[in-house]
Formats: sequence, structure tokens, C-alpha cells
Amino acid sequence: MNTDKYGSASVCVHLWFRMLRPVGFRLLGFELLFFGLLTQHAGSGAYQGEDGEVRKLAEGVYVRIAAADQSIVSNAGFVELDNSVLVFDTHFTLEAGQSLLAAIQKITTKPVRYLVNSHFHPDHTHGNQSFAGPVHIIATTNARRDVVQRDLPAMNRTLGIAQAQIEKMKKDLIATKDPAQQAGLRAQIQQHQKFLDRMTGLKILPPVLGVEDSLDVNDTVRPARLLYLGKGHTDGDLVLYLPKEKIAFVGDLFFNSALPNTQDAFLLEWMRTLAELLKLDAETFVPGHGPVGTKSEVKDFLKYLEELKEWVEPRVTEGAAMEQVLRDVKLPPKYSSYSYQYFFPANLQKMYSELRAAK
Ligand SMILES: [Zn+2]
Repeated sequence: MNTDKYGSASVCVHLWFRMLRPVGFRLLGFELLFFGLLTQHAGSGAYQGEDGEVRKLAEGVYVRIAAADQSIVSNAGFVELDNSVLVFDTHFTLEAGQSLLAAIQKITTKPVRYLVNSHFHPDHTHGNQSFAGPVHIIATTNARRDVVQRDLPAMNRTLGIAQAQIEKMKKDLIATKDPAQQAGLRAQIQQHQKFLDRMTGLKILPPVLGVEDSLDVNDTVRPARLLYLGKGHTDGDLVLYLPKEKIAFVGDLFFNSALPNTQDAFLLEWMRTLAELLKLDAETFVPGHGPVGTKSEVKDFLKYLEELKEWVEPRVTEGAAMEQVLRDVKLPPKYSSYSYQYFFPANLQKMYSELRAAK
């Protein structure tokens, strides 16, 4: 990890997510993931690994799976309708969105007309720009609120901070006579500038059509439903349900074989929402992160949340401090193969806070 006094270019991304991070955990969750991704690619000037695997789930229904180390970060899907294509989530970057569009165009010549954002997090929405044109961007009303009120201002602040860091480094470069320091500063300025150039090219496109409870896509070939099932990963998660194919694209309501990002979550309600999700007549569940699953894996994920509650609740009842709970509760070995292990302290912290508030 770069610990220079300016922070690396990716620290800008940390700042970008500043308001999303739980108090006391300055480098958790996707921030670390983003940190890794950006430092990994900072020298190359281009993102690697954007050719996420495209898999056909049923006739006209496809998923693009992100491997844990890929800069596309989250899974996406697309559905061929009678005369157009509906896309579900657009990955984390403009480049990743472009590569998703290219993957779609290899399969069909139909135009993308509908873009669904499962929720407001950037790793599901920042590829939207790649589909600009006659495209309807759809999300829950709450997800739109968060794109406009949180993501957009955070992005603007990040760009300002990155610019200020570059200016400061340029001044330091003029002031120093030490060749080693000069070389280090030049490399950092270049790295920051690459980050800034990439971020400046990104336009955040907020969803225009807002869903409160549900929206029917009455397509003659492939009817679909967009469903808001309740609070969970955020208070605005939208599910794409294909009743004929028995497939549900679930976004981050479902992390498969992975610990969840809970920074904007409502854990106690999430369990109820997952119970609603399990009532759908569906066999295939596409998570926001991790491989495609079935009802069995969704139940496993629900079980993790239930167990999280079981580990924390007695400690809250006996009045233990959060720091004590964080020290004492360890993730059981059966979850050791799960991705994003570093989310565990934040998972505990969120559960602790919700249980305390419910008392
Ligand atoms: Zn998310």
C-alpha cells in the first residue's frame, strides 16, 4: 500500500467513498478493493481484465460475471427483448461499461433501450455512460436519490482533492533538490494525473425512471418484472425477475460465497427481504458479486446474516462495548473460503449498531 504523504491516486477513491464508510473503519470494503484495482492499473494507463465471462443462462438471457480481481468489479446481465435489449447493471468504470456493450453487440444487433441499476453503488452504475443515447435508465426512487445526493457530490469532491494533491506535489517538486525525491514526485504526479484524467472523463448518469414497488416490462417475447422487495443492501435495491425463465438478477441483495458490503445496509430488514426473495418462483439467482447461484446459495447467504445476528445479539444484551465485540467475535472457519473477508469487522459493527438501536 502506498503510504506517501500525498496518498496514492487510489486514495482519491477512498475519499470518494468517504461518506459511505462506517465510522472507525477508514479502509474497509470496496475501498480496499478499489485501492488494489487502481494501484494495480496505475502504471499501465489502462484497465485490464474487462473481458468478464459472458454466460448464457437461458435463450436471450445472459450474465457477465466479474472475477474477484477484475476491475469490472460487479456482475451485470442483459436480456434480449422483442426489439431491444435490457441491461441490468453496468459495472464500475466507463471502460468496463464499454466492454459490456461490446460483449452485448457480439451476441445481438438489437439496440440497448433499457438500463436498470440495481442500486446506487458506483460499481453497478459507473458504466452507464457507455450506453448514453436513447436509453431509459431505471432504478428505485431511493437509488436515484442517492446517485444525485451522494455519488455526484462525492465524485466532484474527489476530483477537487486529486487536483489539489497534484498542485501540492508540483510545488514540492520545484522546492526539492534531491534527485531521488524528484523522481518519486514525478512518478506520483503522473499516477495522480492518470487517475484524474480517467475520472474527469466519467459522467455519472442518474436514473430517470423511478420504481417504487414494481414495474412490468410487458415484452411479448420475454416478459420481465422489476421488484422492490424491501430494505437490504441499501434502501433501494431492485430485482429483475424473469418469470418464464425462472431467473432473478438480484444485485447486491445477494453476495454468493462472499461476505457482504454492509456500509449502507439495513441488516435486520435484509433478512426479511431475502425471505421475500426466496418466495419468487425462480431457480437461478444472479448475485451482484460471486458466481450464479440457486435458492440454496441464497439460503446460505441468509444463514450468514442470521448467524451474524446470533453472534452479536447476546453481547449487546449483556452490554458489551462494540470494540469488545469486534475483538471477541471471530469468523467461523466454514466461511474461510468466502471472498471479501475484510468486510467482517464492518459486518459486526453494523449488526451491533442496529441491535443497539432496536433495544
Ligand atoms: Zn452495492
